[in-house]
Amino acid sequence: MRIAIIGAGIAGLSAGRALQAAGVESMIFDKGRGPGGRMVSKRTEYGAIDLGAQYFTARDGEFRAAVDEWESAGVVAPWPVSPLVLPERQPARPETRLVAVPRMSALARYLAEGLDLQSGIQVSEITRELSGWVLNGRHGESLGEFDALLLTAPAPQTQSLLAEPCPRLAARAAASTMQPCWSVGLVLERPLEVDFDAGFPSSGPLGWVARSGSRPDRPHLPEIWTLHATAAWSEANIEWSPEAVGEYLSTAFTELIRQTPAVTARIAHRWRFARARGALAESVGYLEHEDVLCAGDWVTDGRVEGAWRSGRAAARRLINRLMERSGQDGG
Ligand code: FAD
Ligand code: NAD
Repeated sequence: MRIAIIGAGIAGLSAGRALQAAGVESMIFDKGRGPGGRMVSKRTEYGAIDLGAQYFTARDGEFRAAVDEWESAGVVAPWPVSPLVLPERQPARPETRLVAVPRMSALARYLAEGLDLQSGIQVSEITRELSGWVLNGRHGESLGEFDALLLTAPAPQTQSLLAEPCPRLAARAAASTMQPCWSVGLVLERPLEVDFDAGFPSSGPLGWVARSGSRPDRPHLPEIWTLHATAAWSEANIEWSPEAVGEYLSTAFTELIRQTPAVTARIAHRWRFARARGALAESVGYLEHEDVLCAGDWVTDGRVEGAWRSGRAAARRLINRLMERSGQDGG
């Protein structure tokens, strides 16, 4: 069976790895320059800045086992951080918070090893032919013909890809809401004198602030803070320029910490589909219609762990389908 996976975020990679472990090949397409999706780090002249997922938690046993393997391989480490709710300074719920080392994108690079990943390729059209599913790229070029598809792009992007060829799944994707997030890497001239490394502001435009270099294995980073706007603020100001957002959120940060540090640079990134608030909580972990499956955090729950579980569940379903088919052929 020729299988195409659209998206090399944690869901697509977890699916690709599970298929490979069962001896099933797949081809993975991602429009980004490298794998990782929302768990990515931006390379800058100041070092790699984690502008997407900040950390992840492992609550499910199977995911915990995968995390243990990644820890043994040296790709993941616990981040001994105790975030405060600010300005009240109450401790947030204690949890084991994990990060990839030496940057968040390292986990995706590790998972992508040995997989057939086509980076920088955007799937723009899917058509159903008698012989299978045909994928076309941005310029109308054919990307190949496949027997089964697994889509792991965020819900709105999956919805638009499936509107024509598979309206039933497109309608399911439309039911999942995804909120935006403006993220800013604030590079400072010298270390900030505050007694916390991460915080959840309880009011105002910011929802999360963290000192990047407090994560393990980032010894060469200068003083960089990641600032995330709340979903409400991001939504209201989604079309602002990155420069305007950088200035506004760094001012909000100086008000929060009651200091005005010297700023070297502000690097802002707009995530249009950041947080799967309205995830479908699909208990089997994936959506399916004929030979098309959907997976991703928006199908299960809006976290790295949810994305990983969803991709793996979809891969298992594909493996079962293969076994059913070969049983039928054999009979
Ligand atoms: P994605 O990572 O979005 O992967 C989908 C991939 O599909 C992308 O790589 C994209 O390039 C590709 N794609 C889309 N359309 C196409 C197309 N047409 N053709 C080819 N490729 C395509 N989670 C946590 O657990 N903890 C956190 O602290 C946390 N913080 C976050 C902070 C931010 C700012 C953001 C944005 C997210 C955060 N998350 C966090 C959520 C977490 O990042 C996601 O749940 C998880 O990474 C989603 O993985 P995914 O594979 O489902 O989707
Ligand atoms: P979670 O959302 O359950 O929260 C993780 C920890 O943060 C918990 O200890 C929780 O008590 C605390 N916390 C979260 N928001 C808080 C707040 N406003 N005030 C006080 N404490 C707060 O954990 P998770 O589901 O593993 O997600 C990890 C983190 O990723 C969360 O903080 C979540 O908000 C964030 N996230 C951000 C985006 C984004 O777009 N910025 C997207 C997805 C997830």
